[in-house]
Amino acid sequence: MNLADSGRLETTVRFRSPGIHYLIFTAEFSDPSDAWELEFRSNPVKVQSSPTPSIYWGEFHAHSQNSHDAYGQVSFSKARLTNCLDFFCATEHHRGGARSAGISCEEWEANVEEALREHQPGFFVPFLGYETSFSGEGGGHHNQIFAFDEARIGDIPVYVEAENMVEIWEALSTEVPANPFDAVENGLAVLSIPHHTGKNFNTALEGHEATVHFGPDAGPSTWRRVMEIYSNHGQSERFDPNDPLAYEKRGDQFSSVDGPHYAQDAWALGNRIGVIASSDDHSGRGGSPREGLFAVYSDSLERKQLFRNMVNRHTYGTTGDRILMDLSINSAGMGDVLHAPANEPLCLRVLAAGTEPLEAVWILRWDFTQGKMRNGHPVFDTLAKYSPGQYVFSDSLILDMPKDSSLYYVKVQQSSRLQQDGQAFGWSSPIWVIREPVTASVFPRFRVYPNPANDQLFLTVLECGTESTQVQVYNAATALVYEGRLSPTALFTLELDVQKLSPGRYWVRLPELDLQAAFLKVP
Ligand SMILES: [Zn+2]
Ligand SMILES: [Zn+2]
Repeated sequence: MNLADSGRLETTVRFRSPGIHYLIFTAEFSDPSDAWELEFRSNPVKVQSSPTPSIYWGEFHAHSQNSHDAYGQVSFSKARLTNCLDFFCATEHHRGGARSAGISCEEWEANVEEALREHQPGFFVPFLGYETSFSGEGGGHHNQIFAFDEARIGDIPVYVEAENMVEIWEALSTEVPANPFDAVENGLAVLSIPHHTGKNFNTALEGHEATVHFGPDAGPSTWRRVMEIYSNHGQSERFDPNDPLAYEKRGDQFSSVDGPHYAQDAWALGNRIGVIASSDDHSGRGGSPREGLFAVYSDSLERKQLFRNMVNRHTYGTTGDRILMDLSINSAGMGDVLHAPANEPLCLRVLAAGTEPLEAVWILRWDFTQGKMRNGHPVFDTLAKYSPGQYVFSDSLILDMPKDSSLYYVKVQQSSRLQQDGQAFGWSSPIWVIREPVTASVFPRFRVYPNPANDQLFLTVLECGTESTQVQVYNAATALVYEGRLSPTALFTLELDVQKLSPGRYWVRLPELDLQAAFLKVP
């Protein structure tokens, strides 16, 4: 890279092995008396044998001079070129209600024009949207984010003269079907994304509570699929005025309102809501580093597919650092609802890779039957807490057969050398585990069946590792007749073709797990 590149260089890198990789950039400087180097590390890149799903980074909450309270130019090009986002939505204040000085028709048209101009299929995807903000009973602040076919941009209901969220949702429902999957097929779909959900903007004045209420009847669950768990305002994970990311730490007049206004409250009250993070930047520089970003797991960088994955809550949010996070329970990933018989073992796997060494990783759980409340808020169990002290961390654990339906999420903290305010976190969307009645089958640790066997033999191992394990089969004369490896899944299962073995007694050994079983081969 040199001066002619003007500070931006695109190049292709090929990774030759699976796993977590980083790119290290070295910048060389010199003046007549000295020469020195600076080293920069990229965000982590996960290379896997199957290419999908991938992680895409973006942000859905940014203002410019077109909002009544911000400055700077509309920022799709900055989001794409300077901040290297994969997708972006500018969310100016809408023009209805008390905030009548929001975006004008001409500004909205200019916004649409820039969004379409910056669209680079497969590389950068713009969304269109705006913010609706109400205090008190009005339902708090939400960004309305639209996935659209270009032919339907004119149908986006923008200039809604509404006084609260109920009126906004009524207006939206005239244009957008309630089912978001149908809507996206139809060419116009919406997400209603709440933010700074427990914040009071001015403790000295009345009417400055911008809280969002959660619970079974609190807003359209079909559109409210994700919430901002973090932004410039601070965290909306849980009510805790002493949390280092609490709203009150960002300004003397701000406070956290005590009530069912936070992600943990929403989850305990039964809302199936995932998490994102975005900036709420007010300087036309949405997507800038360390203001709040989110990742979507998606098969492709395409607007409809990104949107479907957001509706499915396949998302996680960070304080702006591109921390790689993955969470699964058996076959379920972030945001999924797993229905599992009450005797089926659950294997939870977590992976995190920081842009700095990871200081802490928490696995948190809410038990829908036995979960305890304290001072009106749910107390989540810490199932595990790790202090990795290195860039990459992974672990897997068998959940101890909980009989109740529960949800699980992961929170990570990385060292904060680069974080302006000293705190860098990431939060996964939860996985919901719904316990179903016990099935007839049982799940012993190691099972070889059928026994006797004729043509096929199945091995099942309840083992929750991340590495594959060795399998050996010996005959009665202790000669090795088969050798292979079991891949890691919740229950390792291997199908062995034993048709060609001569009848007799055999032993299956898994030496790395110290397991052994006998079986009889019959003609
Ligand atoms: Zn707002
Ligand atoms: Zn805003």
